[in-house]
Amino acid sequence: SEQHEARTFSGRGATSDGHRVELLANVGEVAQAEPAAAAGAEGIGLFRTEFCFLDRDTEPSIDEQVEAYGTVLAAFAGKKVVVRTLDAGADKPMPFLNPTDEANPALGVRGFRTSWKNPDVLENQLAAIATAAAASSAEVWVMAPMVSRVGEAEEFVAACTRHGLETAGVMVEVPSAALLAGPILARAAFASIGTNDLTQYTLAADRLLGALAPLSTPWDPAVLSLIRTTCEGGQAQSRPVGVCGEAAADPALAAVLVGMGVTSLSMTPRALGDVAAVLAATSLEQCRRAATLALGTDNAEAARLTAREALPALA
Ligand code: PEP
Ligand code: MG
Repeated sequence: SEQHEARTFSGRGATSDGHRVELLANVGEVAQAEPAAAAGAEGIGLFRTEFCFLDRDTEPSIDEQVEAYGTVLAAFAGKKVVVRTLDAGADKPMPFLNPTDEANPALGVRGFRTSWKNPDVLENQLAAIATAAAASSAEVWVMAPMVSRVGEAEEFVAACTRHGLETAGVMVEVPSAALLAGPILARAAFASIGTNDLTQYTLAADRLLGALAPLSTPWDPAVLSLIRTTCEGGQAQSRPVGVCGEAAADPALAAVLVGMGVTSLSMTPRALGDVAAVLAATSLEQCRRAATLALGTDNAEAARLTAREALPALA
């Protein structure tokens, strides 16, 4: 069997003809920040802050949050760090925030929705992020998880503005948000597509259920179509649209995403080298062609095979 070593990445992501694609890291713990920087990530595209809140019965103090966020920002001095506010619920349950009596927690009070009943937790977190950002040279962007309506994007941006956090965006991981990406991006500075949840909600297939694994693929043309719609919304409003779900770590899919108009890809640091190498060997036109072909199929397997055939770097 072939030994697979992670290719290293250093520098700036781009296609063979120089179309820029930021290659960023997903970071979910303080200890992952330094290794992500060492792996060559241009920044952090998804800083999951749940680690600070898990396994506790109360929220962490603002000081504790400032310290944790500050350590991560320090590893990316001068670079972009997209901090996601708390995504409590479903696969990340937090008893002090999420109702424990919901029949369908994935469709329940989770993510941004927890701030309706507990606005202080979000306010305190934004205060902590703003304090850590002010003490750092990192370029801090903030985004909310599980936004499903335009009004929520508006509310979140207003809350960030009150804390002096000027680059406020939303995750697109619910089909309604993808379909309304245009009006959402008229309010929010950027969008980041969470393909793990977007796939779960598009196919109505619990992302943790092994029995439904065949349904849970971002190659499904229905998911691709929602990603394309989100990119169109971004283009109409001149706003960047990134991808931070697992899809970004699949080199063939990464090329398809770039072809659909995605402007940054955030992934587990070990995938950076392979994704960078495929993009560097593929022109923007080839990415677009692979995207058009994949979008024209009617099932995930056909989308994947057709796209791969159109990508010489993967042949
Ligand atoms: C996603 O849903 O794709 C995502 C990036 O967020 P998480 O995996 O943390 O839910
Ligand atoms: Mg998610």
